[in-house]
Amino acid sequence: MKTYGLIGSPVSHSLSPLMHNAAFRHLKIDAEYRLFELKEQELKPFLASLKVKAISGLNVTVPYKEQVIPYLDNLSAEAKLIGAANTIKVTDRLEGFNTDGAGFLQHVREDLEFNPQGKSIVLLGAGGAAKAVSAVLCKEKPKALNIFDIDKDKSNGLARHLKSNFPEVEIIASGSIAGLSVEKTDLLINATPIGMKETDPELIGQSLLHKGLLVYDLIYNPKETKLLKSALEKGCRVANGLGMLLYQAARSFQIWTDVLAPVEVMRQALKKGVEKL
Ligand code: NAP
Repeated sequence: MKTYGLIGSPVSHSLSPLMHNAAFRHLKIDAEYRLFELKEQELKPFLASLKVKAISGLNVTVPYKEQVIPYLDNLSAEAKLIGAANTIKVTDRLEGFNTDGAGFLQHVREDLEFNPQGKSIVLLGAGGAAKAVSAVLCKEKPKALNIFDIDKDKSNGLARHLKSNFPEVEIIASGSIAGLSVEKTDLLINATPIGMKETDPELIGQSLLHKGLLVYDLIYNPKETKLLKSALEKGCRVANGLGMLLYQAARSFQIWTDVLAPVEVMRQALKKGVEKL
């Protein structure tokens, strides 16, 4: 039996085992997906012992997506561009990939039928998830990407990095929500954790939202954040991050097994898991 799993801290809330184990069962692959909660000092020895432990592949979550990079032998072009890996394939070497951004894009393009090319995009947050999402979006040649993070150094750093890789895209790090030109935007993305807790403040005033705007919240628990509720009231199209979670998992599955992931089976497993949250 092959072993796959998720490393991070915390990991107990993860819906990934449901998706991957359903896919293994469906395809009659003799494998299991497990959770590995690691303390920071455990990361290096754990990665060094993957072959001994007969672990064939891993997902990586907070806070280790960047920290794993020095221990990997090889990084995909996308993981290099993003600066983080969420997927490791164990062969004779440790190969790193990032499927977060591609998972987001697949959800946006296929399920939401939104083509980013030539569009104006606002991104709230400049942390790990924002880096993954913005890098794949910039490859699609949007007209403009405006970024806001409460930590100015992070939004300035991300804007600089993207500008140097995508000089044709108009990329601005805004110092305030007001400076984001949300009224002229086609896609608004929340890549901050604001909205996960009921006590979280409203991220953006409803008056800035408009019909014709697609509002994408990377948060999927709760399934409707204050931002999405407010956007729905305003007549915007909305989506939460469940589709991104599904498609990043499907892509990781394919990287590990070289088999096309049974996306519908994984989607159903995820749906059941979310109902229990
Ligand atoms: P992160 O690395 O901590 O980044 C979040 C960023 O947002 C930080 O730079 C943070 O600044 C900033 N921020 C906090 N409050 C803000 C505000 N009011 N306005 C603007 N920026 C603000 O977190 P992450 O890993 O990128 O995750 C972000 C969210 O995406 C989480 O809710 C996570 O669950 C979700 N996510 C979803 C998926 C999916 O598959 N759907 C995948 C990955 C992540 P400070 O650090 O200064 O607070």
